[in-house]
Amino acid sequence: MSTGTTTAPTIAIVGAGLGGLTLARVLHTHGIASTVYERDASPTTRDQGGTLDLDEESGQRALGAAGLLDEFRALSRPEGAELRLLAKDGSTLFHEPAPEGGGDRPEIDRYALRGLLLDSLPRGTVRWGRKVRAVAVAPMRRPTLTLDDGGTVEADLLVGADGAWSRVRPLLSGARPVYSGVTLMDGQLEDVDTRHRALAARVGHGTMFALGDEKGVIAQRIGGERIRVYSTVKVPEAWADAEDDATKGVLDLFPDWDDTLRALIADSDGPLVPRPLYALPIGHRWDRVPGVTLLGDAAHLMSPFAGAGANLAMLDGAELARAIAAHDDLETALTAYETALFPRSETQAAVSAANLDDFLRPDGLRRARDRFTSYAASGDDTR
Ligand SMILES: Cc1cc2nc3c(=O)[nH]c(=O)nc-3n(C[C@H](O)[C@H](O)[C@H](O)COP(=O)(O)OP(=O)(O)OC[C@H]3O[C@@H](n4cnc5c(N)ncnc54)[C@H](O)[C@@H]3O)c2cc1C
Repeated sequence: MSTGTTTAPTIAIVGAGLGGLTLARVLHTHGIASTVYERDASPTTRDQGGTLDLDEESGQRALGAAGLLDEFRALSRPEGAELRLLAKDGSTLFHEPAPEGGGDRPEIDRYALRGLLLDSLPRGTVRWGRKVRAVAVAPMRRPTLTLDDGGTVEADLLVGADGAWSRVRPLLSGARPVYSGVTLMDGQLEDVDTRHRALAARVGHGTMFALGDEKGVIAQRIGGERIRVYSTVKVPEAWADAEDDATKGVLDLFPDWDDTLRALIADSDGPLVPRPLYALPIGHRWDRVPGVTLLGDAAHLMSPFAGAGANLAMLDGAELARAIAAHDDLETALTAYETALFPRSETQAAVSAANLDDFLRPDGLRRARDRFTSYAASGDDTR
């Protein structure tokens, strides 16, 4: 690969999420250096969330390109593939134990996956506590980013891997995320095998969906004896900000639900954190701007209801690195990467929007049951 100069290209990646880190890692395996600018002060500044199931064709493929598949298998939790579907009265409509070895989509805790990628990078690749305040492109100049401390960086390639509210995206597109009408109220139960045995038994080792009345209680067992609970509600965008007591506010939305399901909300250790779900327009794309591109949520933010966002972010990172390594100049590499990126993201964004709508309709429980039953019958592990 060349940039028309004799020196190696400088590659600046904004964001040390799963997408940015996969890009940096796969570039490294091809002997190409990069620098990742991350606003968080350290890897432990922010809670990294619950668990992810990694798809064979995206997340696992990316880890293969990163040379980390064996390490991933050692860290994954095959038992996490167990799936339960409950009605609001607590009755079980569907239960599928985890297949041997976790099936096609083994679960892994997010913090373990991010740690795996971070540990695989040369020291100093990620610059922590470096928030990007502004980005710019000018004719015949390299892209520039300005950091919060006033420092500036020029690079041959600037990659926006900076998530939903990307600072880099406006260089390429005027699209903005739109609120889906659905908010997840995110809670967590700790020490569940001692303090919450009944709830742990109800959730099982994997994911439990309880659906009804256009709402849901979605609980996921994660490592460290914890359960993550997403109370899923259709509320105005800023609803949670107006609630004095968010837990009470959520419980009031589930008045006649089974006591165990309500306890998953009420017994959360710590306050519930609102996560309003946003999405970019399905089919979001842009015209080529020299030296700049996007990956992951910055490119194709979608609801988590296809379990695809992190998987795609990792695949994007791996595919972009592969294109950079394979082509003689950056612009050809970026064109090749984006030509595959756009249709791939469009397909998944459409599935994700349809799933969100399906599960939270008045007959969402029946639809979910039919879908899970038909996947189980066909042996297809994709939900
Ligand atoms: C509740 C929930 C559950 C989900 N479950 C799943 C699932 O099961 N499976 C799945 O595949 N996906 C899931 N997703 C989606 C998934 O989390 C995202 O798609 C994925 O994290 C996107 O990765 P990313 O690297 O593109 O962005 P992010 O993970 O958002 O990372 C962006 C990084 O950029 C940094 N950053 C942002 N702005 C700046 C700046 N100005 N300067 C410097 N750094 C900056 C941020 O601090 C962050 O570290 C879920 C999402 C949610 C909300």
